[in-house]
Amino acid sequence: MARTKLIAGNWKMNMGITDAVDLARSVADKTASNTDVEIAIFPTTLALASVSEAVQGTNVQVGAQNMHNETDGAFTGEISPTMLQSLASMVILGHSERRQIFGETNDFIALKVASAVSNNITPVVCIGETLEQREANETSNILQSQVIAALLHLKDLPAHDMVLAYEPIWAIGTGVNANPDQAESTIAAIRNFLSTRYGSSAADALRILYGGSVNPQNWEDLSSQENIDGALVGGASLKADDFAKLVKTSSSITDLEIDSLV
Ligand code: PEP
Repeated sequence: MARTKLIAGNWKMNMGITDAVDLARSVADKTASNTDVEIAIFPTTLALASVSEAVQGTNVQVGAQNMHNETDGAFTGEISPTMLQSLASMVILGHSERRQIFGETNDFIALKVASAVSNNITPVVCIGETLEQREANETSNILQSQVIAALLHLKDLPAHDMVLAYEPIWAIGTGVNANPDQAESTIAAIRNFLSTRYGSSAADALRILYGGSVNPQNWEDLSSQENIDGALVGGASLKADDFAKLVKTSSSITDLEIDSLV
């Protein structure tokens, strides 16, 4: 099954509105020809409105880095799916930084995932093991239990309305990426598990990204793996040239082809 690649840039807590808009414009310019790849950037909540406006009409989609599951109420400091709807088409949920630093539980993440789907915001649901868990051969069990927990409130696998991101925690922001064989075999195992649980057509249609120290040097080998449908990128998404290179590596449209048409 041909799945459209998605290159997603998690900007984390970097850049205020002006810098975020500049980077967004630059990403949109540099990737304008790569219409066969889905591109999404995830600025801070503060910059969502300005960045959305800046990339309107381009190939670049905008996503949020987090949200609450409730639509309104007494949740100081939070942002709801209905508030996001006009600003973001996607939302990152279950990122290991939210789990580890902010104590988000599987239960909370499951509520958010169901809420995002029902409010027509595509959740990019992150799962991943620690180094200790990998070394103890617990990776499969951990990932399966994270998937089961995140999808708890959904009856079916929303294959076209959700994205999964396999992000080994030991690879996030460390400069040590999972090698292509590790990433491919782990993602293939997740897809296989989803297939037994939800059926092969849904599991085949679901996009599963790899995230963890992706950069323009290692992306070519990772991107060519059968089950890797794109990347969730932190550090390398903060430089327009690097991020655009990741997009171009996953695109079959070369700039040379575009130049020869004009
Ligand atoms: C991330 O934050 O999801 C991530 C993968 O970061 P980095 O690419 O910097 O490892």
